[in-house]
Amino acid sequence: MTTDNRLTLVEGLIREVPNFPKPGILFKDITPLLADAEGFATAVTLMFESTSDLEVDTVVGIESRGFLFGVALATTLGCGFVPVRKPGKLPAATLTVSYELEYGRDSLEIHRDALRPGARVLIVDDLLATGGTAAATVELVEKAGGQVAGVAVLIDLAFLGGSAKVQAPVRSVLRYG
Ligand code: AMP
Repeated sequence: MTTDNRLTLVEGLIREVPNFPKPGILFKDITPLLADAEGFATAVTLMFESTSDLEVDTVVGIESRGFLFGVALATTLGCGFVPVRKPGKLPAATLTVSYELEYGRDSLEIHRDALRPGARVLIVDDLLATGGTAAATVELVEKAGGQVAGVAVLIDLAFLGGSAKVQAPVRSVLRYG
C-alpha cells in the first residue's frame, strides 16, 4: 500500500466526536482504529517510520492512550516500555511533575528507578493538543535521568501550536492545521 493509502486507512478509522468531554472540543476517538487489526498495525508502522531517524533505548507512554501506542511501538522498536501515570497509581517510589491545565493543575508520575541513567527515551501519546502533557513528560523523563530523543504521537493538532512547547523533536503521522 502507498503511504497516502495507509494514511487514508488510518484517518478513516478515527472518529470525531463533537463536544466531548466538554462543549467546543472535537474529540479524536481512536477506539475504531484499535478495533481494526490492519488499521492499528498500519498506524503503529507509520509511527515507527516517523521516528526512524531517532536513537531510542526506551519508550515512555503517557496514561492512558499513550500506553496502547507506546507498548506496540516499543515491541516494534525492540525496546522496553515505561509508564507515566496519573498521581497515586504507581506502586513503588515515584518522581512527580505538575503542570498547568486550562483550568487548574495536574500531575504525572514515573517510578524513580524506571530509567537507566542517560537512556534515550521516546515519549509516546495518541495526540498532541496544547503540548502541556508532553512538555511535562519531557521534564519528568529528565528528572528521572533520561535523555529525551523525541515525542511521537499519532495525531498533532498543529493549529494549537503544541510542538513549540515541547523541548524535543516531535514526530506525528496525522497533522491538522
Ligand atoms: P495537551 O496536554 O493539551 O497536549 O493534551 C494532550 C492529551 O489530552 C493527550 O493525552 C490526548 O489524549 C488528550 N486530548 C487533548 N485533546 C484531545 C482531542 N481533541 N481528542 C482526543 N484527545 C485529546
